[in-house]
This record gives sequence, C-alpha cells and structure tokens, in this order.
Amino acid sequence: MNYDIVVVGGGIGGLTAAALLAARGLGVCLLERESRAGGCAATFEHSGYRFETGAGLYAAWQPGEIHERIFAELPVAAPEVRELEHAYVMRLPDGTDVRVGGGVEEFEEALRAAFPECADAAIRFYRELAPIADAIRRTARRVPALATASKLQRVKLIASEPRLSSRILACMNQTAAQHLSGASTRFRRFVDVQLQIFAQCPSESCAYPYAAIALTLPLRGMYAMRGGASALVEALVESIRRSGGTIRFDTPVLRLAYDSGGRATGVDLLSGEFIGARRAVVSNLTVWDTYGKLVGLNRTPAEVRARLKNLRGWGAYQLYLGMDDEAAGRLPSEQILALTDWQEGQPFDPEHSQFMFSAAHVWDARGPQGKRAVTISTFTEAGQWFTFHEDESAHEEQDQAKLESCWARIHAAMPELGAGVEVIETATPRTFYEQTRRRLGMVGGIGQTLDVFGANSPTHRTSLSNLYIAGDTTFPGNGVAAVTHSALIVANEIAPPARS
Ligand SMILES: Cc1cc2nc3c(=O)[nH]c(=O)nc-3n(C[C@H](O)[C@H](O)[C@H](O)COP(=O)(O)OP(=O)(O)OC[C@H]3O[C@@H](n4cnc5c(N)ncnc54)[C@H](O)[C@@H]3O)c2cc1C
Repeated sequence: MNYDIVVVGGGIGGLTAAALLAARGLGVCLLERESRAGGCAATFEHSGYRFETGAGLYAAWQPGEIHERIFAELPVAAPEVRELEHAYVMRLPDGTDVRVGGGVEEFEEALRAAFPECADAAIRFYRELAPIADAIRRTARRVPALATASKLQRVKLIASEPRLSSRILACMNQTAAQHLSGASTRFRRFVDVQLQIFAQCPSESCAYPYAAIALTLPLRGMYAMRGGASALVEALVESIRRSGGTIRFDTPVLRLAYDSGGRATGVDLLSGEFIGARRAVVSNLTVWDTYGKLVGLNRTPAEVRARLKNLRGWGAYQLYLGMDDEAAGRLPSEQILALTDWQEGQPFDPEHSQFMFSAAHVWDARGPQGKRAVTISTFTEAGQWFTFHEDESAHEEQDQAKLESCWARIHAAMPELGAGVEVIETATPRTFYEQTRRRLGMVGGIGQTLDVFGANSPTHRTSLSNLYIAGDTTFPGNGVAAVTHSALIVANEIAPPARS
C-alpha cells in the first residue's frame, strides 16, 4: 500500500502529526506496534482502577494556546479539561508545604512564608523569570520551529522584543543556578525538584531560558483531563479516522526502506510487508531509536552518532496505588511534589530524594466506589534495570527492593496516607521498554542542559530530507504540550495550513 505520509508510532507526537496532516487533506497511515495508542500517555486498567502513567498535570490548555489551536483544525472536540486551583503542593523535608500556582500575589506570599531566610531573593528570582518566559512563548507562537529558524527570522524576532532582547540574549548561555546566587539551599532545592520534573535536570545544569518556561508553567495554570491523557489519545485517534486516515495497531515497523538514491520510500514492517510513503515518513520514536532502528546505524552520519551518545535521559520507577477517599481528604492537594532529603553540600540526586504523588480528582476518581487511582512517579537511572539478569526473578527482586525503599520514603513524607493506600502495581524502565520500545525505557525527554536547549536541541529534521521526528526528545522539549508543539512543527513543514 502507498500513502502520502507514513507515521511510525502512535504516541501523542505521532497521533497529533497524523491528525493534523490527515485534516489538511493528505493520505496518512499511522503504524503502532502495540494493540492501543498512547505510548507513554496511555492509561492502564487494573482491579477496577484506571491509572494515568503521567503526573496528571497538563499545560497550555488556555484559550489561544497550543491545544486549542490544534483542535481548531481537527474534526473532533477537545477532551474535557479543568483548570486546577493550584498546580501542586511542594512538600519539603522539614514538612513545609508550598502551594505552587494560584495568583502571583498568593504565590509570592507562599514563598515569603516558606523561605523567610531568602524571601526577597526567591521573589526576585521568579519576577525575573516571568517576562523572559512570556517573550519566549510569544516568539514560539509566531515561529513554532524556533530551533531551526532562519537567521532572518531570528533577527526579526529579536527586533520584535526591543525591551527584552538584550536580556534574553545575555541569558541564553546561562544556567538557572547562575541566577540563584542569593538564595538559600532550601530554596535552591525547591527549584531543583521542579526543574527535574519539567526539564529533566536540576538548576546546576538547566538552561536558564528553559527554566523560565518550566518554572512559570504551574503559575500560568495547569489542567487535569477527565479520563487522563488517554482522553486526548482517543480524540486524536477519532480525528485521524474521521479525516480518512488509516491506523494499524499491532504493526511493528522494522526499518525504513530506501531507493537507490538513499531517499526513504516507506517502511518495512516486521511481518515483511512494505508500506510506501510518497511524501514523507514521520517517526514518533525517540531520536536514539529513530536512528538506531529506522534509519540504521550504518546510514547514520558520524556526527549524529556522536551527538546521540551524549544525550541523557532518565528512567521512571512508578507505583500505582488505590487510595480511600478518606485518605484523600487528609491531603493538602491531589498533586504533591515531595523532596525527601535536602542533600546539603551534595550534587542534586533525584533518584533518592524526590517523588511526584498524583491522585485522580474526586470528579474523575477512576477507581471503585470510594477509591481513587494514584500514580507515584520517581526517577531512576535506566541502565541499572538492563544489566544482565539470569532470569525474570532477578528483575522482580530488584523491583521489590525498590518498592520497599520508595514505600518507606513515601510514608515518611506523607504520614496522612496512613493505611489508606494499597499498592496495585509497579512499573520499572523495563516495563516502559516493553510498552514503548524506547531506548532503555528512558522516558520524559532529554535533560534541558545548555548543550541540548533551544538551537542546540535535536529537532524535527533528520539526516534524511523526507524523514521527520515528532516527540519528546526533539524541540521544544518535555511534556504533552511540548510534544504537541513538536508535531505541529512537523505538520507545518510537510504541509503548511492553507491560511499561512
Ligand atoms: C512518569 C511520567 C510522567 C509524566 N507526566 C506528565 C504530565 O503530568 N504532564 C505532561 O504533560 N507530560 C507528562 N509526561 C510526559 C509525556 O507523557 C510524554 O512526554 C509523551 O507522552 C511522550 O510522547 P511521544 O509521542 O514523544 O512518545 P511515546 O509516548 O514514547 O510514543 C511512541 C510510540 O511509538 C510506538 N513505537 C515504538 N517503536 C515502534 C515501532 N518500531 N513500530 C511502531 N510503533 C512503535 C510506541 O509503542 C509508542 O506508542 C510524563 C511522562 C512520564 C514517563
């Protein structure tokens, strides 16, 4: 079979690119190796619960933002979202709770109360972030593919922000830590934990402009989705079908197929079937897997191979819990981001010091009567889960040991839980690998360090002129909103919308 576009992978990136291109009139075929769509954003059902894989915090659902702009083009309604009063509560090792979100005044008051030792520096830090983040958002809206913008486009963008451009240019090569010199260790850790979640690296290495975007996300407003991210997945699947696109599940792609000139002509499936792509192939795989599996290492340019070697991602260890409504009533928020150790005088280590607790809301409990579905996500170094195991029991033992250490930390940090929670299931990087085939089960994108951020970022373009990548390892970065943005970039490059 031949199509205009073949999309490999049905995560948020592949689905969004396919939905946009199909809605713009192209013949699209999306191939997904699993029996369902969603990848990292898929929910899973167990014992009467419907668990989100993610933390359940979704950005950019405000009017005019990326999701509204995408759904304006699609023949389906957007999923139901609700803005959260506060994005989350950040719990510190001394038991201090800081509400993150709400209005600016309320948040500054919370900072003053939580960090009296450096309140002015903390407030100044956030006040300086806001205009920079706003300017980057404005420019990204006008030129979505900012990382590959031409020199002329960049000059125009800089000229359009006359008041801020010198400040933005000056901070392009700075880390967030360089702006935290007057802050206490407590406040730095408060920043580190959030950057680790939204940028996959702490302040010491996180690019300051990316930190500006990441840290202001919860202050601009975060949303929950009824049914979790799979509601978005279902809407995109429906959109592709209504626009006449084809989706094939249980269809693993083996590699790209090439003509004699080295141009991609389509893909070969594991079954031996060939699916032709007249115009382009879109990979929703990570950058590592796009080259390692689809392109083939022998066709990957040496400089790309060298680059891929240096990109860093994290694994996730997760606990899926059932929680009594009563226990939920004792918590300060459904979303709690906890730091469990100050790590004074040490480099920040997320594996042993933080977790994200995320419970389904009472209006979307996703559990049996009187219960809520809870997902707890922690960071783990992915490689350690892939060392040689003689048999499956060694992996189970490693999982059990991790569960016990996490369980103790969670109960110590959140005594309100008491006996009101039970473990239903766990997931390790090997689970993620089995479900998504991402390299070493690494999830959540790439750490936004100076050598990865912005113009240094892996982009939607590849070493082949008709192969593109949409997903969380390319510009602009991590999270469902960013992945959606990356898919818009791909769709605009292949087939710009009629009005532009
Ligand atoms: C623990 C955790 C918490 C998170 N929390 C949040 C949150 O609260 N808010 C938020 O916005 N984001 C969150 N994210 C991030 C977000 O979920 C992901 O970044 C996003 O879903 C990734 O989408 P993707 O399209 O890049 O790739 P993926 O989801 O990895 O999709 C790739 C797809 O390709 C398929 N595939 C792979 N190989 C092949 C092949 N050979 N042939 C065919 N198909 C193939 C896979 O099966 C998969 O379906 C979280 C992520 C994690 C892991």
